[in-house]
Amino acid sequence: IRSLSKAYRRAGQAIPVLLDIHLDVMAGEFVALMGPSGSGKSTLLNLIAGIDQPSSGTIEIGGVDIATLSEGELADWRAANVGFIFQFYNLLPVLTAFENVELPLLLTSLSARERGERVDAVLDMVGLTDRADHYPNELSGGQQQRVAIARALVTDPALIVADEPTGDLDRTTGGEVLALMDALVRDLGKTIVMVTHDPKAAARAQRMVHLEKGVLVDEVTE
Ligand code: ATP
Ligand code: MG
Repeated sequence: IRSLSKAYRRAGQAIPVLLDIHLDVMAGEFVALMGPSGSGKSTLLNLIAGIDQPSSGTIEIGGVDIATLSEGELADWRAANVGFIFQFYNLLPVLTAFENVELPLLLTSLSARERGERVDAVLDMVGLTDRADHYPNELSGGQQQRVAIARALVTDPALIVADEPTGDLDRTTGGEVLALMDALVRDLGKTIVMVTHDPKAAARAQRMVHLEKGVLVDEVTE
């Protein structure tokens, strides 16, 4: 990330939110992004995932400057390369756990059988094989978050961005989700950028970066 700035436009006013951010994240690295409420963390994740556009600056991921992609290319690129985990799971209530996880694959050319095999594999990875037919309101919070993690993993993206993935969970369940994130980095070589307010959660990462009012103020290397 180079010289990245973002201002939101609202009622004719520009609201500066990110100011000249520089950040390098290596492949296979687990980075925790911390900072006060309103400091721009979710904004930065949305830019990294190509969900929103910067005002200036560049984001290069795996050699691709994402600003050079057309809207259609960006959607394809995102589907194949980035898994997004949200604080409040963002599962669709009318779909089962299986169907929620299958969603990103419906954009691919995989057959129904191939999709089913992939979904089964990631549900197994997050320990929810026996809950595949459950609807979100039939799952605990931690189980819903594990479904959301399975959905983020099902396309096998190299990069996972997670916005307070444990923010809504109790300590034990949050710990399980963090252990899963750890395993993604250690065993599968995924790259993770995770926003968290919890210093204990951040300590699981290999590196912490802090945002203060849109400025990346320090980097603590373990
Ligand atoms: P939190 O820890 O509370 O989730 P955050 O660090 O994720 O905070 P952001 O959601 O990135 O913060 O918001 C940063 C700033 O940008 C805030 O001041 C917010 O009011 C502002 N903001 C966010 N989205 C918009 C928008 N769509 N339009 C205008 N301002 C916005
Ligand atoms: Mg946020």
